[in-house]
Amino acid sequence: MKVAIVGAGIVGTTAAHALLDEGHAVSLHDPRGIAGGTSRGNAGWIAHMDVLPLASPKAWRNVPRWLADPLGPLAIRPAYAARLAPWLLRFLLASTPGRVAASTRVLTALQLRALPAWTRRLGTLGLGSHLHEDGALSVWTSEAAFAAAGALLRYQAESGIPVERLDAAATRALEPALGPGIVGGALYPTGARVSDPRLFTEALGEAALGRGATLDTRAVQAIAPGPDGIALRLADGTALRADRVVLAAGAWSKTLAAGLGHRVPLDTERGYNVTLQRGRLGLARQTVFEGHGFVTTPLDTGDRVGGAVEFGGLEAAPNFARVDAILTRLQPFLPEADLTGGERWMGFRPSIPDSLPVIGPARDPRVVLAFGHGHYGLTQGAITAEIVAALVAGRTPPLDLSPFSPDRF
Ligand SMILES: Cc1cc2nc3c(=O)[nH]c(=O)nc-3n(C[C@H](O)[C@H](O)[C@H](O)COP(=O)(O)OP(=O)(O)OC[C@H]3O[C@@H](n4cnc5c(N)ncnc54)[C@H](O)[C@@H]3O)c2cc1C
Repeated sequence: MKVAIVGAGIVGTTAAHALLDEGHAVSLHDPRGIAGGTSRGNAGWIAHMDVLPLASPKAWRNVPRWLADPLGPLAIRPAYAARLAPWLLRFLLASTPGRVAASTRVLTALQLRALPAWTRRLGTLGLGSHLHEDGALSVWTSEAAFAAAGALLRYQAESGIPVERLDAAATRALEPALGPGIVGGALYPTGARVSDPRLFTEALGEAALGRGATLDTRAVQAIAPGPDGIALRLADGTALRADRVVLAAGAWSKTLAAGLGHRVPLDTERGYNVTLQRGRLGLARQTVFEGHGFVTTPLDTGDRVGGAVEFGGLEAAPNFARVDAILTRLQPFLPEADLTGGERWMGFRPSIPDSLPVIGPARDPRVVLAFGHGHYGLTQGAITAEIVAALVAGRTPPLDLSPFSPDRF
């Protein structure tokens, strides 16, 4: 079949391979080209150990403290607050203990499939050198928060995610660059990262083109199912025809999904980072500073520090003072690190209030929806691609898709 994929980020380019595997004629459509969106500059984590949804009573307890600092881990641009209100209400409704438990189970099932799916995909393509399985570290700076994390570590271990609890000395023995404020850590030996998110996504995109996929850099304005197939309507008035369409336009998917009859509460959590010269942080492995809203990654191309959640929509200019604030908060934990200079970036996480993506058939099942992966689009890209290929082929997907339905809201 002719399968058109709208969006050439990590989800679109990886879906292209899963569809090429099955003999389809695949076209990618993206005005920014390959890796021009959020997949370009993320933190590079295959974060399969992250099994808790963002919406939770714990998140709400932190909200007042975070919002009090205008450059803190969470910010809402005042001009955007009214537009965000319905999303925030859904986020609140997703934070009840019952909903959190249900989302945790679903997220765990998806995350457990994430790394094996990447290993399969990259092995087949000969791109395994882009995946580094050097382990990941979580560190805590509050005794109370470290003690409270015990339940999560137990749940992860019981779920099949290897994790070792470390005291402060063992944590610093592992990463001697860490300063005295660290009270403990958790080592995830199967933690993985990619070479560099841009290079990685470009390599996947180029490999797809090498296998016969095509790339069209005109924006798709509407997806219109009709009796003879699905029309992709472009800005210049052209209509392209496909037998199947995959909507994988990340944070930009909302309007296109609405045109297909789906009112999906998709918004964007804007995130920031800076990439310093390689080795500047002195950390051997990817590290999350729990409770501070930032992570670090030793990418092949430099040491990346980033995080933050800013609600401000898709149009407002970045506020790179957020990056400086992150570096100021990081410095005491890495007292010897030179945090000057570097290249700053902002990206648009495609976020759904219950922290689960939308993956499934649209009202017209010839269109498959695959967007809204929030903080985990890189992690979940390969397993999403396998699900998309199963849906296009009419096969039973590898896991129950009802929690990912576009109509669950
Ligand atoms: C600071 C930060 C750090 C992150 N760190 C991680 C991490 O460590 N691990 C992880 O798993 N995830 C991480 N994420 C999240 C991850 O980057 C995203 O979930 C992921 O990139 C989404 O991929 P995507 O393919 O859905 O979207 P995108 O990469 O945004 O791709 C969507 C594409 O659709 C295109 N498009 C838009 N409109 C149209 C149109 N009308 N027609 C055609 N094409 C269109 C865009 O140009 C874009 O290229 C992070 C995000 C941020 C911001």
